[in-house]
Amino acid sequence: MEKEENNLMDKIMSLCKRRGFVYQGSEIYGGLAGTFDYGPLGVALKNNIKTLWWKKFVDGRDDMYGVDAAILMNSAVWKASGHIDTFTDPLVECTKCKKRFREDTLKEKGVCDDCGGKTGTARQFNMMFQTQIGAVEDSSATVYLRPETAQGMFVNFKNVVDSFHPKLPFGMAQIGKAFRNEITPRDFIFRVREFEQMEIEYFIKDVDWEKYFEYFRDEMLAWMESMGIDMNKVHELEVLKEDLAHYSKRNEAFSPSY
Ligand SMILES: [Zn+2]
Repeated sequence: MEKEENNLMDKIMSLCKRRGFVYQGSEIYGGLAGTFDYGPLGVALKNNIKTLWWKKFVDGRDDMYGVDAAILMNSAVWKASGHIDTFTDPLVECTKCKKRFREDTLKEKGVCDDCGGKTGTARQFNMMFQTQIGAVEDSSATVYLRPETAQGMFVNFKNVVDSFHPKLPFGMAQIGKAFRNEITPRDFIFRVREFEQMEIEYFIKDVDWEKYFEYFRDEMLAWMESMGIDMNKVHELEVLKEDLAHYSKRNEAFSPSY
């Protein structure tokens, strides 16, 4: 089964390349893992999807406020959000071939996927890309490429409230790039190091959360259908209680089923 799925993914990747949708990033110089370039048809498709999303969820509503925040943010943001301390994946290194893996994606625990050697003990690897801002090379100049767009909205919450005085419930929306230093990028454009997010933060009274959860779930399904997606192939996944992020009461993911 897994083999068939891999073959299908390979077929999709080569079709996307031949038809001018998606190319491997930096391909003629050997590629750069976890990066992809959108070709003429790919960028047209991507722009269409973004436009449809923005029209429905931002322009089409009077309770949604769009922002376009900078990718580089003050490190204090990522300290406050917990990303500096806890946005990590368990990294292991093969004692034989020295290749590195995400521990929880190994086919067999403690065994190298490539050479069958033993892997060492896991250490926590922070997934944020780091760079230096300005000419001074000290820790005060360290900044991160944002690993999510959400914080760009949270830090502008007060600005938007001060300018527009919205009453609850209201939302903020953003489309933009985010970056994660995945140890093992995989599954074509589904697990990459540089990607684009379309995200909404909707602010409500706590007691109303179930009502708005169901409402936005329906809105998402309606939006997918409006794009022409065959809804028989959309699979809804309820994230198990024990797997929920600390801030989450409920989480549902949509994925394609083949
Ligand atoms: Zn190995």
